[in-house]
Amino acid sequence: MIPAKGSRELGTTLKVPVDLDGWFLEAHVKLRPVDFTSDGVFLAGTAHYPKLLDETIVQAQAAASRAATILSRETLSAGGAIAYVDPAACVGCLTCVRICPYGVPKIDPETIGVGGVVGTAYIEPAICQGCGCCIGECPAHAIELLHYRHHQVESEVLSILDGTTAGDQKRGGK
Ligand code: SF4
Ligand code: SF4
Repeated sequence: MIPAKGSRELGTTLKVPVDLDGWFLEAHVKLRPVDFTSDGVFLAGTAHYPKLLDETIVQAQAAASRAATILSRETLSAGGAIAYVDPAACVGCLTCVRICPYGVPKIDPETIGVGGVVGTAYIEPAICQGCGCCIGECPAHAIELLHYRHHQVESEVLSILDGTTAGDQKRGGK
């Protein structure tokens, strides 16, 4: 048995990993055996690796059950620590679009960025995983992680170092 020819292409499209041979890789072999690292995508059967029919059926039932936990909800709640792009600071360089492991940032052609550039990055809050990769790579420092904004992190670090907050420093006090 060999992996399907299109598995790598499908993996790229869905932003899910395949191993060196072309089999799909679960998020965690013991803790999340039918989940991918991308939320809402599940796997079962011989796309995973060669297996017997009874094992495939059990895995398919598990995948369907995991999908049902999402589909049965009226609403979905996203985490609060998500990336946000300030369009006014974005230079439209596409770094975040290329680097995000979940393929979240897109260019919104309706927005205007630095120097009148047409199209700035937009991050859909519902699907951002808050991993922070794009924040560290953005050359214009146009992205911040909500609840962990630069000034908030700076304040925490300063507080740890000597009990001084960024706000205190700006006011000239301790
Ligand atoms: S924080 Fe992570 S998941 Fe969210 S847009 Fe940036 S790189 Fe993608
Ligand atoms: S990396 Fe920063 S400057 Fe470049 S497109 Fe993304 S948000 Fe804009």
